[in-house]
Amino acid sequence: MADKKQAADHALLALGMPRADALSLACGSAPERPRERCPMLELPEVVTIARQMRGELVGKTVASAHRENSPHKFVFYGCDRETFEATPRGGRVTDVSAGGKWVYVTIGGHTLMFGDIGGRALYHETPATLPEKYHALLRFDDGSAFSITVQGWGFLRVEDNATAAGHEQYGDKGLYTLSDDFTAEEWVRRLRDFGAANAKSIKYFMISGPSVPGIGNSYLQDMLYRAGIHPTRPVADINDAEAERLHAAIRETLSTAIDLGGRDEERDLYGRRGGYARVLGSKTRGKPCPECGALIEKIQYLGGAAYFCPLCQT
Ligand SMILES: [Zn+2]
Repeated sequence: MADKKQAADHALLALGMPRADALSLACGSAPERPRERCPMLELPEVVTIARQMRGELVGKTVASAHRENSPHKFVFYGCDRETFEATPRGGRVTDVSAGGKWVYVTIGGHTLMFGDIGGRALYHETPATLPEKYHALLRFDDGSAFSITVQGWGFLRVEDNATAAGHEQYGDKGLYTLSDDFTAEEWVRRLRDFGAANAKSIKYFMISGPSVPGIGNSYLQDMLYRAGIHPTRPVADINDAEAERLHAAIRETLSTAIDLGGRDEERDLYGRRGGYARVLGSKTRGKPCPECGALIEKIQYLGGAAYFCPLCQT
């Protein structure tokens, strides 16, 4: 059973898809985060990094594992230092996969999980390029290394494989957007059900509600723009045709961004910028909308910036 599921995950990852587990169960609440969310690795960046990590790390043996060399208030470790550092040591990396905003590195009988991270996850061919500050570091037997340096906040933990496979990722409790289960019909149904029970907006639903793991405040802007929906719009006001447009926009935005290796404001495993330039963001604020020429506007909304075209999005 586990092998079958893992095989499916491998196949999905090879296609740039997240893990096959379409729905995960409700989970405990995450620790309180900084109110102003800084840019984080979202699904396209996580899929890109996990794919690159598979290519570089599978088959290598962990010579040593290290937790932070510099304390950071908003790095949340799900295990103590001893577990984090002693468990992976001597293990061989057998797999790396992605799901939502999380990356799972299988090392022997254990999994290093990291996700919901603002920062860098980098490969080092030699120790010469190691960062000064890190919050996780794996050194391998061939002299290469992998580091994570958190800049906003982030979650890291080491679990045994069974626990990791069933782990309820913080915040990742919804529909996996690139899986076969993410159909227009299912999406419309979920929006309708949520709208019937809540007065909340579409932005809330997409990044704070139990909806679409892997999407944060960055890709959200372009998805809503492509669907012609204003970020403050109550979910209850969205009709089925609009919900279907949004479904298509989510697919289009994510697959384009994955093809381009993530956003141009984030870095991949080798420190290179991605190729996806956001249509709406700080760089395009005040510039003309590519569709209608109206100037892109910005408001502060739900603890972060929301950008929109005042004519195309209603
Ligand atoms: Zn416009």
